[in-house]
Amino acid sequence: MNGWDLLRGIAPVSLCDWPGHVCSVLFFGGCNLRCPTCHNRTIAWNPQRVPRLSREETMNDLAKRRSWLDGVVVTGGEACIVAGIEQVFADLRTMGLPIKLDTNGMRPDLIHEFLEQDRVDCCAVDVKGPWDKYPQLTGDRVDPGLARKHLEAIFALAIRYPERFYFRCTKVPCLTCEDIATTRSYLPDGFELILQDFIEPSGNDCSDDGPCVESGVFSQSTSLPLCDHA
Ligand code: SF4
Repeated sequence: MNGWDLLRGIAPVSLCDWPGHVCSVLFFGGCNLRCPTCHNRTIAWNPQRVPRLSREETMNDLAKRRSWLDGVVVTGGEACIVAGIEQVFADLRTMGLPIKLDTNGMRPDLIHEFLEQDRVDCCAVDVKGPWDKYPQLTGDRVDPGLARKHLEAIFALAIRYPERFYFRCTKVPCLTCEDIATTRSYLPDGFELILQDFIEPSGNDCSDDGPCVESGVFSQSTSLPLCDHA
């Protein structure tokens, strides 16, 4: 399968998805979690209800902005579960654009592979909260032991590749200040936990059977929801 088949959205210009970078953001459908606070739930949970964007048009579009873009962010959903996402990275590499991958960190094996093979330049990993709140934070998709196992594997990679990781946490309502402090304490020395404000998701859950109204092409991404992987 070609990963481009699951491309469901693009933010042509973002100033907030990669610190210090003017970038375009590509949104791929599908996710292995069901976070109740998810902002991209239609793309994440019902990608079949969002129009597909073509590889050719997207690559042409990126080529037009190539001279002033600093990079491309690949996000979702969870791009690590997209079969054939390697082809997307390879195509983006032909343009010489640095690539940042956003991930929930539940596939450390793939993150390791992507870094070893130099498919991506850096990863932004969501650390959603204390281990014991992972079931609540992920819609019961991840138990505390699994969260710890996977994220500790990611932290080990971050120690090995310190320039190539960011860690983020969204201040969703169930997280207390103590929870944030606990989450911060998990990170290896020298890493900052970037906190993101939570904004209530609205209007994109497609919970009925009607057509999804969510557009596949987003306007310029300077608003929090497109930066937020709650
Ligand atoms: S917040 Fe991120 S990890 Fe959670 S369901 Fe949404 S896309 Fe998946």
